[in-house]
Amino acid sequence: MKYDVAVAGGGIAGLTAAIYAAKAGKRTIVMEKRERLGGRAVTDKINGAYFNLGGHALYFGDAQTTFRELGVRLQGNQPSTEALGIWKGKVSTFPMGIGSLLGTPLLSLKGKVELAGWLAKFGKLDMRAYDRMSLREWMEHSVHDPMVRHIFYSLLRTASFAAAPDLQAAGPVLQQLKNALQGVLYLDRGWGTMIDELTRIALEHGVQIATSSKVISVGHRGGAVRHLLCEDGTQAEASHIILAMPPAAAYRLVPQAEATALHTWKEQAIEITTACLDVALRRLPKPKQQFAYGIDQTVFLSNQSRAAYLSDDGAQVISLLKYQGTDPNPQQDLLELEQTLDLVQPGWRSELVEKRFLPRMTVCHDFMHMKRVESPGPAVPEIAGLYVAGEWATHGEMLVDAATASAKRAVQHILSHKDTGRAPNHEHRDAI
Ligand SMILES: Cc1cc2nc3c(=O)[nH]c(=O)nc-3n(C[C@H](O)[C@H](O)[C@H](O)COP(=O)(O)OP(=O)(O)OC[C@H]3O[C@@H](n4cnc5c(N)ncnc54)[C@H](O)[C@@H]3O)c2cc1C
Repeated sequence: MKYDVAVAGGGIAGLTAAIYAAKAGKRTIVMEKRERLGGRAVTDKINGAYFNLGGHALYFGDAQTTFRELGVRLQGNQPSTEALGIWKGKVSTFPMGIGSLLGTPLLSLKGKVELAGWLAKFGKLDMRAYDRMSLREWMEHSVHDPMVRHIFYSLLRTASFAAAPDLQAAGPVLQQLKNALQGVLYLDRGWGTMIDELTRIALEHGVQIATSSKVISVGHRGGAVRHLLCEDGTQAEASHIILAMPPAAAYRLVPQAEATALHTWKEQAIEITTACLDVALRRLPKPKQQFAYGIDQTVFLSNQSRAAYLSDDGAQVISLLKYQGTDPNPQQDLLELEQTLDLVQPGWRSELVEKRFLPRMTVCHDFMHMKRVESPGPAVPEIAGLYVAGEWATHGEMLVDAATASAKRAVQHILSHKDTGRAPNHEHRDAI
């Protein structure tokens, strides 16, 4: 089997890269180790309810632009931003706009004036100015009222899924919040529909898709890629290979990876994880309480059914997240998430249709943090024709936007370097 481009990993990054390569006329294959495509963007239909792997929302960022360009048809709606804040074990109005700002008991008059100022100017800021400072530094420098800081942290946590202000570079997170404040999309029947669409478009462009094909090695010789080898012995010869999988997995596949940038990218990676509790309820005990930000707890609750079709029999699908630190305790996290449901939807247990707890999901394998040595990819400079993609290969984008943006970077690099020689920008590294 001979290809121009072989992609290992059939998540959003791998599928996006494959489509762009095929659209450019490249003979392309995607190899995915699981039986189904989609990676972390799959949706499971359980007992009539559509559960993503934890709460998912599509922001107005690179992914939406990419999907529009590719002709991905998505159905869903923007949820209302009317929210509650959880503070000291109680729920109260969360300030998201002028009305809720005036009404909230969470802020003093001084705090309300400061937050109103932020609401007016936030959308106009150029966030790139804050790329080189940590989120904590930005906060301490820019926001004065302690409760306004708490509220900002809570919004930024939700937008980025991370509770690591000392590590997070401020610019990308602030940009993500800016995107989120434009509204998000909850997708009918979940994110699996996005995968179905990407698969349809990939097949239409002639991409060959091989599921249950675990790649175990990247063959390279003379400083250039040769083939992908699968567990079942299948081999795909290719002049360009895109590894659209986590950095540690990519590293393991490449002989002599320790002498490549893959080593740096694996070593510098810091994971972000969440505990996810999803429930389908016959009805909501408190219909007006559908959306809540933890302010003094790193939790989040959203009834995704308020904007998307997520159940065939009218059940309400609520996603709860607990943003974890470096030392998560799944039992404690489950307790905290159930207590959050008790607070926001008391009596939910007697309405329960289905429940799923995922104790530790990796939301991203790396992000823009203060300890980063360099931004990964698109090319692995020591091995001509080798590329990486995935949400961790971010150059500033976050989450799925980083998955699509990194995929496009890899294909653009392939198309702009027609030979398989070394990329001149990266000659500083040793040849293999
Ligand atoms: C709980 C949770 C909530 C999230 N919420 C949001 C959200 O609200 N908004 C947002 O934008 N993003 C969100 N995300 C992130 C989003 O889901 C990911 O950014 C995106 O799905 C990542 O796609 P990917 O292709 O980079 O990686 P993956 O989806 O992980 O795909 C990698 C693929 O590679 C395959 N693979 C690995 N090793 C091999 C091998 N050796 N051979 C062949 N195949 C292999 C895997 O099976 C997988 O299919 C969330 C993620 C989680 C976990």
